[in-house]
Amino acid sequence: MDNLWNDIKVNLKSSLPSHAYNTWFEPISLVGHSGAELILEVPNQFFYEWIESHYKNHISKTAEEITGKTILVKYTVAPEKTLTLEKDRIVEDQNKPSAHKPNLNRRYTFPNFIEGTNNQFARAAAVSVAKSPGQQTFNPLLIYGGVGLGKTHLLHAIGNYIYNENSGAKIVIASSEKFTLDFISSIQKNKTVDFSRSYRKADVLLIDDIQFFQKKEQTQEQFFHTFNELYQGGKQIVMTSDRLPSEMNGLTDRLLSRFESGLTVDVQPPDFETRVAILMEKAEQNGIDLPYDMVELMATHIKSSVRELESTIIRLLAYSSLSNCEIDFNLVKKVVRERVGNGVHVDISAADIIKRVSETTKVDEKEIVGSSRRMQIAEARQISIYLCREIIGSSLVDIGTQFGGRDHTTILHACRNIEKKIKKDRRINHLVRSLQQDLTFSLI
Ligand code: ADP
Ligand code: MG
Repeated sequence: MDNLWNDIKVNLKSSLPSHAYNTWFEPISLVGHSGAELILEVPNQFFYEWIESHYKNHISKTAEEITGKTILVKYTVAPEKTLTLEKDRIVEDQNKPSAHKPNLNRRYTFPNFIEGTNNQFARAAAVSVAKSPGQQTFNPLLIYGGVGLGKTHLLHAIGNYIYNENSGAKIVIASSEKFTLDFISSIQKNKTVDFSRSYRKADVLLIDDIQFFQKKEQTQEQFFHTFNELYQGGKQIVMTSDRLPSEMNGLTDRLLSRFESGLTVDVQPPDFETRVAILMEKAEQNGIDLPYDMVELMATHIKSSVRELESTIIRLLAYSSLSNCEIDFNLVKKVVRERVGNGVHVDISAADIIKRVSETTKVDEKEIVGSSRRMQIAEARQISIYLCREIIGSSLVDIGTQFGGRDHTTILHACRNIEKKIKKDRRINHLVRSLQQDLTFSLI
């Protein structure tokens, strides 16, 4: 049975995408067997559910293929080792009188924040504040910019850095929404004193999304006092916002002038190189190895925010896990198209395709749509027709019209012919693929 389990793993490894195997099957271990029954241990309940819903009969089928017998597969969930470790650590922390566990997202750190010209200055300011909090010139620090560009990431990175240097520092991090809710509930419960204490005891106050303070006068008033007390005590304040304070409506003047009294830095959407770097990094974090051409395709079309780049990678992973296929150029294209809409292909016309094929094959554009049957010309024509069908998705009749009024059966024949050649003829395969990539890259 031990051997059987090894054989099953080898078999699954060769039949599944590597990341799917590594994620879902590698961590499984054989814990027992009896007769025609295998008992497997999975790391946790989530794992078990995922395998049940996505790979239900994979293991038993493979086992049957190997042994020729019916094999029953049962699962047990491993006792949670990591959780107990985590608990021990928390208990230990509580015993230390100075320990204070701020509500920081551990994943948001400086080392995994990718720097580009779009965020360089903001990052430098954040690092400087983290290294010496409370310095007058950078206090308060306000980071502003559009959605999904890394403001919250930088805010937590500052907190994490300070906490790692000095776990006794009192770091208070909250969204302005939470600040508001805490304030309101303190009024309702007659605990405004507790409220002030919890915010005003901070050595470092990190407030996310201060635009939420707009039109909330009482909360602004509270924040004003908290701000002043901390500021006067030389405590660092860092805030983020999706717009400049001067662009906020319903902000009291005195709060506005406080917000503007320190350093204001912006984060801009990432440029092409930064997008490539971010995609590579996020792919690596998720255990996938994406070839450069796929990364380039994504970076070319997905531009608006880092969050969107991240979710594209996640979608790609999900697709390939769910449909059990390797990540390839077509899958990337499909996901990109889904994200940016069919806009990817909308702008391209038959004329663009003919022009590009002509440039590549050195066959004149007129000859491509003309009637010559010379081999080189006919080939360029058929490739152009094939690309019109693949990239634009035009109908056979439409393509016929574009190519000198040809009959739809001629167009269909051309498409089939190229499809066949792509499989058999390496030169054609390469030529068509590179034209296809060229044409899709040059969009937008
Ligand atoms: P914002 O607060 O500006 O809306 P976030 O900080 O929440 O944006 O960022 C959205 C996601 O993108 C987060 O998962 C974050 O880790 C990631 N992210 C943003 N900028 C970067 C960057 N420069 N390098 C790596 N990841 C980033
Ligand atoms: Mg944010």
